[in-house]
Amino acid sequence: MATLILASGNKGKLAELSAMLEPLGYEVKPQTELGVPDADETGLSFIENAILKARHAAAHTGEAALADDSGIAVNALGGAPGIYSARYAGEHGNDGGNIDLLLQNLEGEADRSAYFYCAIAYVKHAKDPTPVIATGAWHGEILPARQGEGGFGYDPVFFDPELKCSAAELSRTDKAARSHRGQALRALLLQLQ
Ligand code: IMP
Repeated sequence: MATLILASGNKGKLAELSAMLEPLGYEVKPQTELGVPDADETGLSFIENAILKARHAAAHTGEAALADDSGIAVNALGGAPGIYSARYAGEHGNDGGNIDLLLQNLEGEADRSAYFYCAIAYVKHAKDPTPVIATGAWHGEILPARQGEGGFGYDPVFFDPELKCSAAELSRTDKAARSHRGQALRALLLQLQ
């Protein structure tokens, strides 16, 4: 069974990625279990940050690593919060505060279109010159108020117009079939096989 270090401490993302990877025979180890500190996300794009995070985890563990960098881009806000999605309201990972600020910034705005975006990077080792990269996007709209109890992050305010529900109303399996992260991971696995 191949071991993969997951370069993330985000519980929501870890749960989704592990649920998709473990049935395929990967043993998934979050970097936090191995004492790896968070990487500095200094890139200007999701792809740059995913590579930075994967290299950082590989450097600390000496193992192959996989990192996800993701977020939500809102068209009326010029793509914000984008790569700053986790710390939109200031403190890193304050999901409630991030949603409140997003809803406030969209008050009175007619165009509520938005998309989740995910970049996944896989490196065989810290200095791997050929990281494997895959991306995915999930298009929808920002709801005026929270809807649904599942998921994490911005899921309660992200509405999928085709499924006619919020991301927080989907089971983990249904979200994976549709989401930016599911799309990116499937594309990455095709390249790795
Ligand atoms: P990262 O850990 O720097 O990649 O930040 C990702 C942030 O984007 C998360 O903290 C969430 O706020 C948001 N995000 C990414 N993917 C999702 C998702 O599937 N649902 C809801 N929010 C997400």
